Amino acid sequence: MLIIGSHVGFNKDNQLLGSLNEALSYGANTFMFYTGAPQNTTRGKIIDELTLQAMQIMKEMKIDYSKVIVHAPYIINLANGDIEKFSFSVRFLKEEIERCSQLGVKYMVLHPGSHVGLGIDEGINNIIRGLNEVLKDSPVTILLETMAGKGTELGRSFEEIKRIIDGIEDKDRIGVCLDTCHLHDAGYDVTNFDKLLDEFDDKVGLHYVKCIHINDSKNICGSHKDRHENIGFGHIGFEHLISIIYNERLDDIPKILETPYIDDKPPYKEEIEMIRTRHFDEKLKENVVSNE
Ligand code: FE
Ligand code: FE
Ligand code: ZN
Repeated sequence: MLIIGSHVGFNKDNQLLGSLNEALSYGANTFMFYTGAPQNTTRGKIIDELTLQAMQIMKEMKIDYSKVIVHAPYIINLANGDIEKFSFSVRFLKEEIERCSQLGVKYMVLHPGSHVGLGIDEGINNIIRGLNEVLKDSPVTILLETMAGKGTELGRSFEEIKRIIDGIEDKDRIGVCLDTCHLHDAGYDVTNFDKLLDEFDDKVGLHYVKCIHINDSKNICGSHKDRHENIGFGHIGFEHLISIIYNERLDDIPKILETPYIDDKPPYKEEIEMIRTRHFDEKLKENVVSNE
């Protein structure tokens, strides 16, 4: 079954119920959210009443809540071994896991981290050390996102993802989130996704993949830029993204759009419509702007 959604907001007043309603307004049957602003540490108290209401609606609508995803804030950088920064990242990530667990969310996507000049080996060792600490008795599984390789980002190759997973003590608590824009920007050919999945299965193991970010890319393959584009408007293109989304080996894995807003308006309703009908609308951007 196609499980498709986008990243949505999470505000302190409506919380999970607000996120769900936003997702439903896009015609989505899953979603991903940050538990607060991704770039700061301000987090409100979780209101269980709102969580329960949202869960009830999802049950009625047959939305599988176990596949709803939280994205960890990107100020977390486990690769940086600087004592203060590392312990901040570990502490904040633990708090995020606690919030996920209170919300009943099973999966959290995490950017593995940037080594900030320490080198790949040290960066990877720091990530492993941090993850093993936060995953002790964690009810939440962390999904390492494949990265574009901007700056000193780690996790830009299957080999690096594999090295991190190898160091994790509890393999039941670790997984992977593939991001189509990042894979393409990192230099992988996403236009032959079966071949890419074979390689991933060989080097890492396909069973680790629990989420896919669906984004087009503003740049050419191997550019290491990480600039997302709307579906069908970038260098990956509509047909290739459709064949990734409908690849049978990825059936039942949630697909999440993180494409850019157009004139401050979310494009997700229109993009999900294009994906469901498998029909590219070259007027998408104009329509998003003129709708409402
Ligand atoms: Fe991400
Ligand atoms: Fe992503
Ligand atoms: Zn990105």
